[in-house]
Amino acid sequence: MQFELPDDLLALRDHARDFAAKHIAPFARKWDEQKWLPDETVRRMGEAGLMGVTTPEEYGGAGLGLLAMAIVLEEVARHCGGTALMLAAHNGLCSGHLKIAANEQQKKKYLPKLASGEMAGSWCLSEPECGSDAAALTTRAEKTSSGWRLNGRKMWVTNGKRAGVYLVMARTRPEKGSRTISAFIVERGAAGLIVGEPEDKMGMRCSDTVPLTLENVEVGDDALCGNLHEGYIDALKVLDRGRVSIGALSVGLGRGCLEEAVKYAGQRHAFGQPLSSFQATQIKLADMEMKLEAARLLVRQSACAFDLGRPDKALASKAKLFATEAASWIGWESIQIHGGAGYTKDICVERLVRDAKLCEIGEGSSEVQRILIARDEFARRSA
Ligand SMILES: Cc1cc2nc3c(=O)[nH]c(=O)nc-3n(C[C@H](O)[C@H](O)[C@H](O)COP(=O)(O)OP(=O)(O)OC[C@H]3O[C@@H](n4cnc5c(N)ncnc54)[C@H](O)[C@@H]3O)c2cc1C
Repeated sequence: MQFELPDDLLALRDHARDFAAKHIAPFARKWDEQKWLPDETVRRMGEAGLMGVTTPEEYGGAGLGLLAMAIVLEEVARHCGGTALMLAAHNGLCSGHLKIAANEQQKKKYLPKLASGEMAGSWCLSEPECGSDAAALTTRAEKTSSGWRLNGRKMWVTNGKRAGVYLVMARTRPEKGSRTISAFIVERGAAGLIVGEPEDKMGMRCSDTVPLTLENVEVGDDALCGNLHEGYIDALKVLDRGRVSIGALSVGLGRGCLEEAVKYAGQRHAFGQPLSSFQATQIKLADMEMKLEAARLLVRQSACAFDLGRPDKALASKAKLFATEAASWIGWESIQIHGGAGYTKDICVERLVRDAKLCEIGEGSSEVQRILIARDEFARRSA
């Protein structure tokens, strides 16, 4: 059992840390206000290799695993959850789905552009009427003589405003069930693809989240990604990995809140002493640190299981659940330590806490994770 990161991942961590300190931290508040991550930053992230972390080298990526992705996301989220969410959806959901399901021609066409940052990617599973129960989706794809015709509405599409390519899950059989849905690659500008205005969100504000409408969108046979009727099976595999990414992102947010609290507790005086000298503050900081460390270990253990070819869905759920709830809790404790200052936008903690709340909802809410963990537990105990 090896808990230290190897030298190559330490170097990646330092690279991502330097990048985030220079190109993200100074601007994160402005981007939160503007509700937009500048194209220039996305281009820079591409140049820095952050847009193709897990994309194989033959398609222009770094060819690294989920642990590497977790390390990058922690460093970016330390300063800005929205930027990290942009990267998580792009790398993990869109490129991740292409990586596991696309054919060679599709991989060659899209993955290099996604890895370089020339193109951003979106992944469209959720709909206005179904999120947790995603298998109930109603967007449909009908066979035509030359391909497929897509109709329906998608919701909460991360990167949807800027994406060059959308992975759209659509029903190819009328009945409900896991083998009734397929994945389609839809390019930006396709006739009938209507990209809505970004949601005015509570947090993760620089990450754009849009509704999509598909009105008789015609795509060719070559737009089918993966086997017919098996798009939902692939989507679940993508989500398992995505949960580790959201866990890692939460570790970054929690770390940001903790580091700011430690700094403030050392600077701020009350009753003639620094806050850090009060045992009540020390106890808070100790509990925050303990939860953060536990969350990081679970996330990295879960990432390693995928990288070693032994994916553990329940472990991914545990990592996501623990890390996301820990991040929110650490965030609120950090605001408490900051007192009145913590209740203002001058301290980045309020933004990180707003960002953290999304992690308890997206890619499977806390309630859904608990159901999955319990289901796995019952199955193992009764086996
Ligand atoms: C900022 C943001 C970005 C997103 N990005 C994407 C994206 O890129 N692509 C994409 O496809 N989706 C995306 N989503 C959608 C996200 O995955 C869903 O919001 C999430 O799965 C929850 O679905 P819902 O919002 O429809 O809530 P619902 O499913 O309606 O759930 C509402 C509440 O009921 C609870 N609940 C539901 N079922 C049960 C149950 N059986 N038992 C107990 N409680 C239950 C839920 O936990 C939740 O608390 C994003 C969402 C947000 C907010």
